[in-house]
Amino acid sequence: MIARRQTVTVNVGGVNIGSAHPIVVQSMTNTDTANAEATALQVAQLARAGSEVVRVTVNTREAAAAIPEIVQRLADLGLSVPLVGDFHYNGHILLREYPETARLLAKYRINPGNVGAGQHHDANFATMIEVAKEYDKPVRIGVNWGSLDQQVLARLMDENTAAGSPKSGTDVMIDAMVVSALESAQYAEQLGLPHDKILISVKVSSAPELWQVYRQLAAKCDYPLHLGLTEAGMGMKGMVATSVALAPLLTEGIGDTIRVSLTPEPGASRKLEVEVAQQILQSLGLRQFLPQVTSCPGCGRTTSQFFQELAQKIQDYIRDAMPEWKGRYPGVEDMQVAVMGCIVNGPGESKHANIGISLPGTGEDPRAPVYQDGKLLTTLKGPRIAEDFQALLEKYVQDRYGR
Ligand code: SF4
Repeated sequence: MIARRQTVTVNVGGVNIGSAHPIVVQSMTNTDTANAEATALQVAQLARAGSEVVRVTVNTREAAAAIPEIVQRLADLGLSVPLVGDFHYNGHILLREYPETARLLAKYRINPGNVGAGQHHDANFATMIEVAKEYDKPVRIGVNWGSLDQQVLARLMDENTAAGSPKSGTDVMIDAMVVSALESAQYAEQLGLPHDKILISVKVSSAPELWQVYRQLAAKCDYPLHLGLTEAGMGMKGMVATSVALAPLLTEGIGDTIRVSLTPEPGASRKLEVEVAQQILQSLGLRQFLPQVTSCPGCGRTTSQFFQELAQKIQDYIRDAMPEWKGRYPGVEDMQVAVMGCIVNGPGESKHANIGISLPGTGEDPRAPVYQDGKLLTTLKGPRIAEDFQALLEKYVQDRYGR
């Protein structure tokens, strides 16, 4: 059991974020927000995939003006997922010029490195906090390695030089990110924003630096932390890098909401980042989103594609069925299913699962025993083993989890 770092709770449009609540999965659209139809469709896709909060960039007047239509389109689809506005450079202008947008967004993301320099920094930041107070909204102070507040960095660099440079340049940058986040949060509170209206993120793109920065942050405040490896990259690299980066922190109880930032393959669905985030939390035993399918890697005993196809079919079947199962069969997400390639480990794993199938391997009698709650239920054979097993799985779900 992982003990979470204690935080206050921040309510983001009805979704509670903090140590007293499950770690929240969130994601971000990559459509032009000004295109309300496309953005609403992508938000809906992400929400249906399991994103509990969705962030959209609000970078122009057109984007700000589109938020009410996006919210309406989502309502027409029967969805009320909290939308977070991602503001940089002109958030103080857009939030003031578009009050309906300010009212409808569930949270504002403020990057202290991108709110303006010098005297404008504090004034622009203060304007955004004033709007947040007015509409009773939380904010995320979202510091990013690539857009670090240069004034804070210069100050800490000078202090390090004056002290004889005991710290490396990287360590000073990490300190500067933490200081930027915490000073901004403190300033927001001085301006009257309640303590429980603030979340913090400090994102970098390397795992060891992410650990360093979040451990510092976690020790110094009790704001809920939004965790993510920024610019993680594409495909396998992005998924592995994110998992490696997030797992140690989550294991230490650090992180109250996560986002997996993947560069999508051209034309690919955005929902992969939601599925990866869910899988990270599920693999660590922090949350349970859908039944876990245990399948062996296959080996020389499974040279036909049949085994891989069966494992894929069952995985897809469960994922597709889950939205309906979830409402109808409480607790189904805890179910364990095994799809194993041969008799070496197959019967053992299948008996440990709620329901499992063990294929015969190559060159063996094409008969596949199915185990249910540890006991042999039946033996499937013939060309429809996959369909027959799906039917048994569906019946098991109905009998075991039906009201
Ligand atoms: Fe190979 Fe059988 Fe082990 Fe799967 S269970 S990896 S098929 S020996």
